Amino acid sequence: GEPFLLTPGPLTTSYAVKEAMLRDWGSWDGEFRAMTVELREGLLALTGDTEGVLDCVPMQGSGSFAVEAMIGSFVPKSGKVLVLANGAYGKRAAETVKYLERGLSFVDKGDYMPPRGDEVAAILATDPDITHVLAIHCETSSGILNPVKEISDAVEAAGRKLLVDSMSAFGAVDLDINEVRYEAMVSSANKCIEGVPGFGFIIACKDSLEAAKGNSHSLSLDVHAQWAHMNKTGQWRFTPPTHVVAAFLVALRAHKEEGGVAARGARYTRNRDVVVAGMRDLGFETLLKDRWLSPIIVTFFNPADPNFAFQAFYDAMKAQGFIIYPGKLTVVDSFRIGCIGQLDRQVMAGVVAAAARSLQQMGVASAVPPQAALDERAVLAG
Ligand SMILES: *Cc1c(COP(=O)(O)O)cnc(C)c1O
Repeated sequence: GEPFLLTPGPLTTSYAVKEAMLRDWGSWDGEFRAMTVELREGLLALTGDTEGVLDCVPMQGSGSFAVEAMIGSFVPKSGKVLVLANGAYGKRAAETVKYLERGLSFVDKGDYMPPRGDEVAAILATDPDITHVLAIHCETSSGILNPVKEISDAVEAAGRKLLVDSMSAFGAVDLDINEVRYEAMVSSANKCIEGVPGFGFIIACKDSLEAAKGNSHSLSLDVHAQWAHMNKTGQWRFTPPTHVVAAFLVALRAHKEEGGVAARGARYTRNRDVVVAGMRDLGFETLLKDRWLSPIIVTFFNPADPNFAFQAFYDAMKAQGFIIYPGKLTVVDSFRIGCIGQLDRQVMAGVVAAAARSLQQMGVASAVPPQAALDERAVLAG
């Protein structure tokens, strides 16, 4: 009887994932240490790394903790990071770089457009101080899928290093180390692997993990120290989220059974296609052009009809069993529908039917967005 979460994490998890949390584990115990090994190996199996160049370091906390740990651990104190932003998470990454007092170069592409490889190449050519480029794989605030392959090619050609925030994409969108040559990437338990919140993980080149010693500004967010300790003792440095790890292993096994990254991505793509087609039939418009729509989350403009109010729409959707997500854009009013979690096309068809009923209850005749939003999109979305 719980509502479905149409949100990009925390998200709707399976009964088996929740059930796995009904047992207590000792963090020092051999059984839990074996669980940590399974977690690290299971995640590495999704990277395409056949030569053993990568390692996986789980880190307590939400995804932002892992982003902060990655930046602080791989960028030396004298380093400079080019952050490629096109939404809230890119901005947060830039803010993190500033907090950590690393050098920052910042590109903001707005809400509609991705950073492109040629732009990255041009910036790197003019600024030799930049040591790292940080890209957001799927910018969850708009749902845009950024072209990390061409960014990686530009970064590699310029001899710099790439950090990827693949928080909301890893496990459903391919991020193969043979294609996208990253130094490190991060994701977290409660996104496309469909676990519950409580830890993030950094996947990085072993050489870089070795070289990261002494870089970190933070005791608890030191990726090198966590990695070295884990390799030596099999344990996390500080109290691990034991129940979250137990749940994550069930989620990871289900991910494999479903068919891995390709099958997970295909289900999310079907979810997206059902919801986008259905919402467009009701008059809604997506923020992004089809080319940049991710299978993770979709942003829709609020309708222009004066009877539409987001809170009333939210409440009407919730009463029908669906929790939607407010927009996170800088300029226009919008809301978001996530496609990830234990959802399938039947659920998504239910979302569309509930949206139709909600509009009816509110007396909204048409879901067409304001002309000003469409005009802005026409200018900014190229
Ligand atoms: C979810 C997410 C994060 C981390 O957010 P938390 O609230 O700290 O878990 C970072 N980057 C992206 C792109 C995300 O989707």
